[in-house]
Amino acid sequence: MITTKDLTKVYRSRGREITALDGVDLHVREGEVYGVVGRSGAGKSTLIRCVNLLERPSSGTVTVDGQDLTALAGRGPRAGAALRQARTRIGMVFQHFNLLSSRTVQDNVELPLEILGVSGRERGRKALELLDLVGLADRARAYPAQLSGGQKQRVGIARALAGDPKVLLSDEATSALDPETTRSILQLLRDLNRQLGLTVLLITHEMDVVKAVCDSAALMKGGRITESGTVPELLATP
Ligand code: ADP
Ligand code: ADP
Repeated sequence: MITTKDLTKVYRSRGREITALDGVDLHVREGEVYGVVGRSGAGKSTLIRCVNLLERPSSGTVTVDGQDLTALAGRGPRAGAALRQARTRIGMVFQHFNLLSSRTVQDNVELPLEILGVSGRERGRKALELLDLVGLADRARAYPAQLSGGQKQRVGIARALAGDPKVLLSDEATSALDPETTRSILQLLRDLNRQLGLTVLLITHEMDVVKAVCDSAALMKGGRITESGTVPELLATP
């Protein structure tokens, strides 16, 4: 479902070159929860940002659901439309939720649907359905500031699902949450994976997160994947 081939990313910063990704081959199968784990600076964020097209790779390819995103990322208006289309197939959840504080919970979830040009009535129906799915139907009219961290992340997840993505990317989605809330959010991701057949790619600096929800995982260090396999396989290696 997600494949990267020899993916590299070199940043140029104040005359210095920083190799954030150094030949990453990733293979995430449809319907699995896949974790990429590593310390700060390992290249995890860069990797996930290349998969959701926020970042242009320096070389290599990224394929999501059979579509070569690197080919799409070429410039020009046609490429732009194709890129936006491809993005709706990829949902993203963030460490700090990235909700708009001036909009209600429901309006936050509706935002991607607005961008997709979905009618107001249909947007409302879909947003309420998604809020129900994440257990927050009763907070539709609340504002983000009135919610707990875990509730905010549930809104973030509902919003990520608005475009009916096949793939959900999670960038340290539980790092800002306490252990109990972390467990409930990881359980929600697991449930969505099972109920919707959603493929989940998550990045984390915590092996416990990988143990709790992932089927497979890769260890990342210095822009490279040093080991990968099923979670039982990885835990068995000394
Ligand atoms: P994380 O907690 O994911 O490791 P960082 O604090 O490393 O986040 O990065 C936050 C943002 O700053 C990201 O958008 C990242 O791309 C950018 N960033 C990280 N390191 C640098 C750097 N050396 N120069 C410029 N931008 C950077
Ligand atoms: P992680 O998510 O594992 O913490 P990142 O992908 O954020 O790792 O960073 C990998 C490396 O790339 C780090 O050395 C970081 O400082 C650097 N980096 C990340 N984003 C930028 C950026 N926008 N400009 C320059 N360097 C960056």
